[in-house]
Formats: sequence, structure tokens, C-alpha cells
Amino acid sequence: MSKHAFQTEVTQLLDLMIHSLYSNREIFLRELISNASDALDKLKFLTVSDDRFKENVFDPKIEVRFDAKDRKWLEISDNGIGMNEAELIENLGTIAKSGTKNFVSQLTGDRKKDSNLIGQFGVGFYSAFMVSDTIEVVSRKAGEDQAWKWISDGKGEYSIEEASRDGFGATITLRLKEDGKEFANRWTLESAIKKYSNHIPFPIFLEYEQTEYDDKGKEKGKTQKNEQIGSATALWKRPKNSIKPEEYQEFYRTISRDGGDIMATIHTQAEGALEYTTLFFIPKRAPFDLYRMDYRSGVKLYVKRVFITDDDKELLPSYLRFVRGVIDSEDLPLNVSREILQQNKILSNIKNASVKKILGEIKRLSEDKEKYAEFHKEFGRCVKEGLYGDYANRDELLELARFKTTKDDGLTSLAEYKERMKADQKAIYYISGLSESLLRNSPLLEAYKAQGLEVLIMDDEIDEIVISQVNEYKTTPLKAINKVGADDDLPKTHGESSIKAAEPIAQKVKQALGDAVKEVRVSARLNSSPACVVLDENDPSVQMRQMFRALGDIPEADIKPILELNPAHEIVQKIGEIKDEALVNDVSFLLFEQAQLIAGMTLKDPAAFGARLSRITAKAI
Ligand code: ADP
Repeated sequence: MSKHAFQTEVTQLLDLMIHSLYSNREIFLRELISNASDALDKLKFLTVSDDRFKENVFDPKIEVRFDAKDRKWLEISDNGIGMNEAELIENLGTIAKSGTKNFVSQLTGDRKKDSNLIGQFGVGFYSAFMVSDTIEVVSRKAGEDQAWKWISDGKGEYSIEEASRDGFGATITLRLKEDGKEFANRWTLESAIKKYSNHIPFPIFLEYEQTEYDDKGKEKGKTQKNEQIGSATALWKRPKNSIKPEEYQEFYRTISRDGGDIMATIHTQAEGALEYTTLFFIPKRAPFDLYRMDYRSGVKLYVKRVFITDDDKELLPSYLRFVRGVIDSEDLPLNVSREILQQNKILSNIKNASVKKILGEIKRLSEDKEKYAEFHKEFGRCVKEGLYGDYANRDELLELARFKTTKDDGLTSLAEYKERMKADQKAIYYISGLSESLLRNSPLLEAYKAQGLEVLIMDDEIDEIVISQVNEYKTTPLKAINKVGADDDLPKTHGESSIKAAEPIAQKVKQALGDAVKEVRVSARLNSSPACVVLDENDPSVQMRQMFRALGDIPEADIKPILELNPAHEIVQKIGEIKDEALVNDVSFLLFEQAQLIAGMTLKDPAAFGARLSRITAKAI
């Protein structure tokens, strides 16, 4: 016998679970039965793909037994793929998924009170400790002779010893706690299995003793029954109109290992040239690892009901990684390898059709503004990622993207913006940057406000990359207002003559600023602000540069902004009159620095800025 310690996070997870899921303890049954179902899926695959297992008769069964007399134990047994010693240690002593691991370690300490969050992801095998004092797992891996027994009381340690077992598979025996005893009952088990595992594609048997009575109602004796619970048909193959919403919901929970709800279900049973079934779910909440590099793909591939893989990130484009579900093809060969999958025509057809279906469903969601706001909050960024990557569906995706706007506090679609456009408006205007409040107060908006023109506020990191890929929406160009010349098509706030008159002032300021700016221009667009900074047409924005820097692969090029001056502003006019060179210098830099701050940029030399401000303030007092 060997003793082992649980990984720290396992102990933390156990602790969290007891506190947060206690009122919903019966879910342990769902977790154990879906593990058994996965184990059967894996063995089924071996029997069709691996010569060593071709001789095996695959007679899948999940069996549930319990101690009716003393209610001391409950057993869930399967004849699936099983685990050997190393796998028992790896699977039942650690949390393999780094996302879950991080999540659990973040939830401890101060954040423990948020522990109801834990219901959002699959709690798995360990949930059985909510009803057990001790758990024993006896398992024999398919193809191996030695069986192993894993035992633990869930208090930090487990032990493993040699054991014997007829046939492959795993038997999980729960030594029930006082308040787990309610589960050693035929009706409780039957109703929980029906509720949580009706869609499992393998037969589930419940063993119980039935008391027989004679005509006079006197006990005659007991007989042992082994009754099949549930339909043992894969849910996705059942006729759509026979499936209840709760059944979809439970199926989603099983395959996603997410305890949450679904926002939408997309079930397609395609016949014809290609025969396949897809069942996709859009979850209500984004999984916590949605933006991690090591997110898990949410789609399982089956071929004729045989599970092939759940680890192929190519089954759907990565921007749809929040979608969970199943693809089951009748046409793919059962022995598909990963390499074949990558370039398989059948699969790529299914994939393309699936993307269209899913986008269609999202479009349908978008018809309900309130519902769509919910979707957008969780997955809006993914839709925008799609704009960047999925060229074929760009038009559909453009309809689904939402942006903030100067029109009001809510979000708008490009279609809605276009509908509100003025008759002679030439472009869809936007301003991008890192902070919504800075953008909303930008002096660049002055001219647009004055003209009653709407401007999209793009403060989401991803907006910038996306919008750089999208030049127009239904033939209307998209135009960044923080670029030089963006105001060419606006009515001028200042006339030709006052602009001309201020040219020498711009030159004077450029001389003072030297290399700090690319250019100083007289602006036709500023109304009340003295100055603003803009970018040259092809220069990347501050936001873009920050992102490149974060990616680490582009050295920060020193991109100099262009300073625009308001010819009608008192300060600008006065610069024209001052003779004192030091003062021209100070005022020019202050104008430039102020404009940079307002645009959300950081100053190169804050100390020099402070010194200048003090000198001018001293003069003014
Ligand atoms: P999850 O199922 O989400 O991966 P679990 O904690 O429920 O997490 O299980 C951990 C791992 O243990 C599973 O991924 C699987 O490899 C293995 N396992 C659990 N139950 C069984 C079983 N009945 N037969 C074979 N392997 C199992």
C-alpha cells in the first residue's frame, strides 16, 4: 500500500464544495455517472479503432447498487476503460486543468464567500465527498491484468493498493455519511438518475430488492431486481420534438461540466448529401477560462455515436469557443486520426454549416434587445474576434457586433447607426482609446457634437484591432476621428482666412516643440479647446501600440503625434503676440502636454511639465 497527499487545490476544492453545494448534494450522482459514461465512450472507441481490442465484446453498462438494509454504502460501477495505478494518482489526486486549478486557488481566502461560483464549473468526482466519509475506487484498465484500489476520506490523503477485479472498468463505492444515507434508497436514486442522466447513451441499471406480498398482503419474500433506468439513447439522436427543455439543460451540464444554465440550444439533424447531427449550446455565462490560452474546446466529435475526441480545437473556429455541444457524423470513417480530421472535407462542410447555424441563432437572439445585451456582455468580444478572423462570415458578424456611442449610454449596431445617419453624412465615425470617459470628453468630439453627428466610442481593447480590419459597412466607410484630416468632410468651424492667419502661430509653436511633435497644424474642427493631438493617417493608435508592446514582438517605435491648434482660442492668438522666447516655449509645451493628457497619453517628462506649470502659475498670480 502506498500513501499520497492530495494536491493543495484538491483539498481547497473539497472544502469549498462542502460549504457551497451542500444543498444540492445529489449532483454527485450526475458527476459519477457522466464519468462512467465517458469511460465507456473511450472503451467503445478502442474497440473500433485498436486491433488489440477488436475481439472484445462491448457490452456497456453502468450499474448502481446500494445497501438497502443499513444504508451504509452506495456503489456506481462501469465496465469502461478503467484506470491503472498511475492514472488513479493523476486523475483522483490532482486537478488536471490549469484553469480550474487557478480558479480554485483564487476562490480561497477572502473570496471564499463567493464560493457559490463553484457551481459554475464541473466539480467532478470529488463531489462524492459531500455524501461520503470514505470513497473506494477499484479499477482495472482495459488491456491490463492488475487492478488497483484507491481509498480516501477526503482529508488531505489517499492510499493505493493492489486489488482484484473481474473485467475492465471502475467501481466507486461511497461509504455514506449520516446525512448521505438518504441516497441509499430506490426512489431517491431512480428520480435523481432520471433527472440528471436520462440522456446518457449507455444503459444504467439500478439494483434493488423488491418485497413480494401474497393476496392477503402478507410478506412473501424478497426478490432481487435489476431495472434499467433511462433510455440509453444519445439525446441528440432522439427526435427534436420529444426532448424537453430540462433534458437539454441536463445534457448541457453533463457535457460541459458547467453547473449553469443555457441561453440557447441549436439542434440540427441533417439528412441528404451529408448525414450528421449537431447539438450546440450557448451558455448563459461565459466560462471562466474563456480568455485563457489553454481553454478547453467545448465540442465533442462522435462518428456514428462513437465518441472520437473532445480535444480538437478545430471543430469550430476559435472565436466560437464558448459554444458547447456535440457533432455526430454518419459519413466519417471511425478510425479518423487527428491529421485526417484537420483536412477532412466532410468535417469542414459540417463545420461551415455549423458556424452558419450558430451565427443565425445569435442573430435571432439579437432581435430581443434585452436578451442580446446579456449575450453581448458575456460573448461580445468573441463576436468581435470573429470579425478579425472569419472573413467568410464577416457580413453576418458585422451585424452582430455592438458598440458604445455618443448617442446614448447603451450599445448600438452598425445597422442602427446607419439608420440614424444624416442624409449628407459621408461616414460612420468612431473614436478609439483606452478609457470611455476620456473618449466621451475628447475635444475631438466638439465638431461632431456641434453638427449633431453620432460617433462610436470604442474603448474595448479588441475594438481597435477589429475596426482596423473593417473599412466599411454596407458601402459606408468607417472613419477614425482621431486621425489627421478626418474632419475634411465636416463643415468647418473656422473659415479659410482665420486658418491662414494662424499659420505663423503654428510655425512658431512647432519651432518651440521641435522634435516632440511630427507637425503642428491649424485646426478647423476645434470649438472650445485650445488644442488637440491627432495621429497621422497610417500611424497606430496608443491603444494599438500598447497591445503590440504587451505581445512583446514589436519594439516600441517612437510615433510622434500631430498637434492641432484652435485658431480662435485666446491662448493660441496670444502666442502670436508674445516675444519672450522662454514664455513661448513654456506655453507651447503646456498646450501640447495638456492635449496629450486629455487624449489619455502619458507624458514623457512629467517633472518638466510640473516646472512649466509652476512658472506660468507664478506669473498669473
Ligand atoms: P472530469 O471528469 O471533469 O475530468 P473528475 O474529477 O470527475 O473530472 O474526474 C477526473 C478524471 O478521472 C476523469 O477525467 C477521468 O480521466 C478519470 N475518471 C473518473 N471516473 C472514471 C471512471 N469511472 N472510469 C475511468 N476513468 C475515470
